[in-house]
Amino acid sequence: MQDLNSIMFQSAEAFKKYRKFSGKQKAVFLRAIVEEIEVLGMDLINIAMQESNLPEGRLLGERGRTIFQLKMFADLLDEGSWVEARIDSANLSRHPIPKVDLRKMLVPIGTVAVFGASNFPFAYSTAGGDTASALASGCPVVVKGHPAHARTSAMVAAAILLAAERTGMPKGVFAHLDGGDGFEIGKMLVMHPNTKAVGFTGSFGGGKALFDMANQRPEPIPVFSEMGSVNPVILMPEKLKQDAENMALSYASSITLGVGQFCTNPGLIFGIENEDLEKFMDILSDEIEKSAPATMLNEGIFKNYEDKKLIALSQDGVNIESVSKIEKMAQIQGTPTIASVNADVFLKNPKLHQEVFGPYSLIVKCKDEAQLLEVLHLLEGQLSATLMATESELQANEEIVDTLRNLSGRLNFNNVPTGVEVCFAMQHGGPFPACTDGRFTSVGPDAIKRWVRPASYQSFPDSLLPDELKYDNPLNIWRMVDNKFVK
Ligand code: NAP
Repeated sequence: MQDLNSIMFQSAEAFKKYRKFSGKQKAVFLRAIVEEIEVLGMDLINIAMQESNLPEGRLLGERGRTIFQLKMFADLLDEGSWVEARIDSANLSRHPIPKVDLRKMLVPIGTVAVFGASNFPFAYSTAGGDTASALASGCPVVVKGHPAHARTSAMVAAAILLAAERTGMPKGVFAHLDGGDGFEIGKMLVMHPNTKAVGFTGSFGGGKALFDMANQRPEPIPVFSEMGSVNPVILMPEKLKQDAENMALSYASSITLGVGQFCTNPGLIFGIENEDLEKFMDILSDEIEKSAPATMLNEGIFKNYEDKKLIALSQDGVNIESVSKIEKMAQIQGTPTIASVNADVFLKNPKLHQEVFGPYSLIVKCKDEAQLLEVLHLLEGQLSATLMATESELQANEEIVDTLRNLSGRLNFNNVPTGVEVCFAMQHGGPFPACTDGRFTSVGPDAIKRWVRPASYQSFPDSLLPDELKYDNPLNIWRMVDNKFVK
């Protein structure tokens, strides 16, 4: 077992220094991580391919996204306004009580434990969004490596440590725990008194278990678990009449993209029974029959897919609509599959509401719009929800739009839910059970807000204030000064 106590002691010591580093110093560190990852070149890609079964193109793209995320946080730090400085000047002549000088900004909370996902060995793992955002905020990071890509994780961790050393970061600012030790090391990490927050991407079972553990600590800590989602898609009748073929083709691609191993995979598709829905299902079925099975991330993910699919398909009233007709080339290849069920059955069977992680989707046939609404009211929190509709249908169905808005983090119009853009306006996180805290995003610059807390300085001498709050704004950042945004 790794010496967790000494790692966590060093991490807490690092926090005392690292939290005082300027944004520009931390930006240099993040950009050095990029350089060290780039130095690993194709060796890293090849190891990740061996461990994850993901194709080269996909991994090159994911490494690109990881690098982009690190640079994005470096740019955020260089600019500096992310700390949300708020200044309310003193008014000593106010009657009857003079007003004091108050200045507030976001400050880091301490060591963040990061649990990466198996399906994103780079972008949601060792140097992924959680690590990049936590390091940017001023928090040290301890990553629990995922055993499904242990060597990839160790290589990336070594790159981060090299970057830390050559940019003069305090020892302990980053540490990597070998994922091979399993749940026990993860549990100890969450329970350790020096851990101050947790970032998790993975299954509902894992994310909820870590959340429950953290709440049983003498000092509870925030756990940001990004978990599974079925990402409901609603096919409205007018849109379906206009565009059934294109919709079926794009959904066939979305369902099978990356062997369905995306948390934004469209797992449930709702429509109102009529000939256009039948046409959509026929074209989708043809496409699924032509979609080749492909190798899944690992045996565990494949077995999980098979087990959960079997449970869903064996429920009363569920019909298999189509299964890939192309022969499997390897044991752990996931076979694209589409099933359907009437909404009457779906309403009564919560087993059909669960995520089946893989190239599978269930079409739910509703009698009319009233039943569609009834079904939507039943759904739990989601990362995304998609409405395929004409603009007039959008206007005429305010309650459907409002219901979807209420249950999802990202409401998508006439698109597919797969594909998550890394930018300010992206919300990747939704109400429970999609996440343990739907008020935050794990993607985009705002992901930094998970690792900070607001702190005020009252009546402080200017020279002792952080630069972000000083009277003459030496960092030239955007601040709210006496109720106005100014530089
Ligand atoms: P996972 O099995 O939950 O594993 C994730 C990590 O958590 C692993 O390091 C795992 O440790 C650890 N873990 C799981 N349960 C634990 C427990 N009870 N105690 C301590 N540690 C625990 O997830 P995965 O198979 O890697 O990923 C697939 C899932 O991730 C899918 O459901 C998918 O929808 C979801 N996902 C969500 C997002 C999102 O942004 N919301 C993104 C990608 C994927 P061990 O490896 O040692 O078991």
